[in-house]
Amino acid sequence: MNRASSENRIIPSVLALPEKLSKFLEKLLRFRLPSRRRFAMRDVLMALGSLLILLLSGLIPALRSLRMPACLAAAILSCAPLVLQALPQIRGKRMPAEETVLILSAMLAFLLKEYTAAVLIPALGVLLFQTEAYSLLHCEAAPDALNESDPALRRQVEDADPEDSKRRRLLASGLFGAFCLLVLVAFITLILALIHWREPQKWLHTALVFLALSPMTALCFASLLTHFGALFSAAKSGIQLRDGTVPERFAECRLFAFGKTGTVTDGRFIISEICPTGGIGEDDLLRIAAIAECRSDHPIARALRAAACLEEGVIPNGFQNSEEIPGRGVSTLFSKHQIYVGNAALLEDHEIWYQVPAKSGSAIHIAVDGTYRGHIMIADSLRENAFEALEELRAQGVQNLVMLTGDVRSAARRLASSLNFDMVKPELSPEEKGSAVRYLRSVHGEKARIACVGDGFHDAAMFEASDISLSMSPSGGEKTDIRICSEDILGIPSAYRFSRESERILQIDAITVILVKLLLVILGCASILPLSAIVPIDFLVSAAAVIFALTSLTMEKRKSAFR
Ligand code: ADP
Ligand code: MG
Repeated sequence: MNRASSENRIIPSVLALPEKLSKFLEKLLRFRLPSRRRFAMRDVLMALGSLLILLLSGLIPALRSLRMPACLAAAILSCAPLVLQALPQIRGKRMPAEETVLILSAMLAFLLKEYTAAVLIPALGVLLFQTEAYSLLHCEAAPDALNESDPALRRQVEDADPEDSKRRRLLASGLFGAFCLLVLVAFITLILALIHWREPQKWLHTALVFLALSPMTALCFASLLTHFGALFSAAKSGIQLRDGTVPERFAECRLFAFGKTGTVTDGRFIISEICPTGGIGEDDLLRIAAIAECRSDHPIARALRAAACLEEGVIPNGFQNSEEIPGRGVSTLFSKHQIYVGNAALLEDHEIWYQVPAKSGSAIHIAVDGTYRGHIMIADSLRENAFEALEELRAQGVQNLVMLTGDVRSAARRLASSLNFDMVKPELSPEEKGSAVRYLRSVHGEKARIACVGDGFHDAAMFEASDISLSMSPSGGEKTDIRICSEDILGIPSAYRFSRESERILQIDAITVILVKLLLVILGCASILPLSAIVPIDFLVSAAAVIFALTSLTMEKRKSAFR
């Protein structure tokens, strides 16, 4: 595909993003929210203009006598953007819910001679809508920051569907319920006001408090932003998350199980010693091992081929077939000779006697036609920053770090103690790694959430038993929830931080907004606080929630805000 046509395909998918976002919001509250709102300077200016009129009519003594007509003009000016937003929705046969509520509130406030509230309610409503629209603009522009990087990462962001997160769906339904409830209570109060016409002022005031505090979209936007924030920050750091449920599930993990080879070590093995037996030469032993491994993708196989100068992808003459035995090694038929290359367990499985290596470390044993031919000592080095990555996880609240490896006890033990692992279980077959994770769950309780990190080779059983699977391999390997494409092990604590932080931001937002609204309803109904104070407080808290959630889009630039 040429460059121009590939660009053509990316551009429409970027343009589709706002459509996807508004579709999500539409689904979110089951009816058409003002999600089609676009950021419009015109609306901001109209709202600010109406606030200015309100201010001047209150401050300048000469204008005091004109307060009522001035406020009427200001209220009409600030309601105009709401009407302009509502019209296309009505034409599209949708109900403009929040706009209608705000316009009704302004009219009711005017009727009650609450002139300040009559201007504040629509004007601050418009400003809040515009803050939300501004935050959406940020989401739309964000994939451009990923232009250069992996197309898969870009797709992750573009295809993000906040609907797939259970907690967000629950929050959205709850907010929709709260909105309906407040509007319903307001209408019941209005009806009561009509029946008990003796004290209409009091009932109408109560209805107005409920109506003015009913809009809930700010929290929906905050939820949407934190969801995208986790995905963007991850993608910008070269981390691919499978779907929107990953951050909320990952944030709950307090126990991490790591593989060794290719996970905390770089998987680039070097050969430290070749120990042939029975008169065979060192080069011959290495060549036999490399030939037997010619089909394997395991890091050990790649190292043996490189050491024997056997080109990648070349199948030597005489090769018949090869079978990979996960966690053990390979069994290969070459020129009618049966070759086993792998760990001690592989030879034990076939009842072949082998020599115990004189030095501690990882040995790859070689047997031909049932006869032991020697072993090759191999070692790989720790990944850069492995220690820092594990310490960072601990600092963020991870309680248990466990190493599950197929490698021998001595090598595993040495590595685990140098990295301060809490537990280590060596010499595990891939299936046993799965059982080990299930065992950990039985020890730490069914509610324990376990994250498993591997290089993607023979990790299927371990990943299957985990709550969240992470792979350190940029090429994929098994399908995992989180893929660290950059191969930088610090990507693991970063992904964890983005998940926890985005969840925390949403939690703080939700708790603050809901509590403040509740408090304002009580203070407003009891006439302790006037509407001219309630409306600005509600606006400030809601706008702050949206802006705070917006910070989740740049989490990768900051150090953790929560510890
Ligand atoms: P880890 O648990 O450290 O990721 P693996 O499960 O991938 O390790 O492998 C466990 C052990 O099995 C290795 O240390 C090695 O001894 C042996 N092994 C696995 N695959 C191969 C192979 N292709 N060639 C030689 N040995 C292998
Ligand atoms: Mg492995």
